[in-house]
Amino acid sequence: MNEKMISKLEILAESAKYDISCASSGTSRSNKSKGVGNAHGWGLCHTFTADGRCISLLKIMLTNYCMFDCAYCINRQSNDIPRAGFTPRELADLTIEFYRRNYIEGLFLSSGIVRNADHTMEKMIRAVKILRDEYAFNGYIHMKAIPGASNELISQAGLLVDRMSVNLEIPTEKNLKLLAPDKDHLSIYQPMRHIQQNLLENIEDRKKIRSTPKFVPAGQSTQVIIGATDETDNQILQLTAKLYKRPSMKRVYYSGFIPVNGYDKRLPVVQEVPRVRENRLYQADWLLRFYDFDVNEIVNDKYPDLDLTVDPKLSWAIRNPQFFPVDVNRDSYQKILRVPGIGVKSAKLIILARRHRKLNLQALKRIGVVLKRAQFFILCHEMRGFKLLHSSEEYIRLSLQEKPLLEAKTTNMPQQLVMGW
Ligand code: SF4
Repeated sequence: MNEKMISKLEILAESAKYDISCASSGTSRSNKSKGVGNAHGWGLCHTFTADGRCISLLKIMLTNYCMFDCAYCINRQSNDIPRAGFTPRELADLTIEFYRRNYIEGLFLSSGIVRNADHTMEKMIRAVKILRDEYAFNGYIHMKAIPGASNELISQAGLLVDRMSVNLEIPTEKNLKLLAPDKDHLSIYQPMRHIQQNLLENIEDRKKIRSTPKFVPAGQSTQVIIGATDETDNQILQLTAKLYKRPSMKRVYYSGFIPVNGYDKRLPVVQEVPRVRENRLYQADWLLRFYDFDVNEIVNDKYPDLDLTVDPKLSWAIRNPQFFPVDVNRDSYQKILRVPGIGVKSAKLIILARRHRKLNLQALKRIGVVLKRAQFFILCHEMRGFKLLHSSEEYIRLSLQEKPLLEAKTTNMPQQLVMGW
């Protein structure tokens, strides 16, 4: 690779690093004869940058020139930063070269907007077409759809890539207009709707003709910036819940605001959003998708923001003592799933195991229940006393709050999602 390409790569990979809507999953495409690469569901290896963001793919921008001036973006027009752009051919060659050297397993492609949305989108499509048609590349490709791009181009792109994302960025239109005056929610929701419509039609077509090419088989995702504006967690999660009602929406990513343009008066005075808020939002998101929680149970007008001291499931449990105790030997799967310390897998195992014998603490521990948390909320074979009744809210909080997480407030250390809570 010559020096010019290395310099472009440095600039454009650096410019792409703030977009986190790139986790790769949920698709599979096996290698066609004489092609290279393949994409497997959950099969791409993930690595994380020092700040915990996913970089499992070659994450790159086609260009970081941009005619828009979004206040929160490093690549905005008014910033004096090194600029570069690949031709579609250069980008395709680079990707395939990296793939063959085993550096990457797929591509996450975004771009600044040059000339207009359609012009930019056409160039991105051309790069992906070279990869798919000329190089027969079957690996995972995630492409950012450019807000305002025409339906025809979105349809073309969707047949070439595995996942598309259109970033919402700011949850409310008023604040989006304030920070990104060139954008509006219509130009974001329209491609989202078009992707969904095409995807649903594609599913029907494939039922009739099996060989119909797949349209964005891994669905779509979006990203919301947290803390650049004054939206509450309630507003953010209500929006998330609505998005998840769309069948094609696979993931909403929450990106804590990073003040890359500190001198812009439109931006908040906060230096950086506490990482713990981002983490709590992901935990709440998990409750919506896998634990059958309604968004209003997690946040509402009375509790507009997530409790930063404990996770949202525990916070809900403490606020709803009338729901407990849950008897692990008798109560339903849905009730057991609500117990802090019992995850989806443990709840399923409890239902299976209790068919054969009454479960005691030892059995629960073997199943994977986190008894330190669950003890306050359950009854089981040998635990007739109900600890919650004898424990104050303060005692439970003190026993279970995640001190290291709070101390990590604004560090750049990777944050693990707490799955078994
Ligand atoms: S359109 Fe995208 S790349 Fe351009 S300034 Fe806005 S966020 Fe940045």
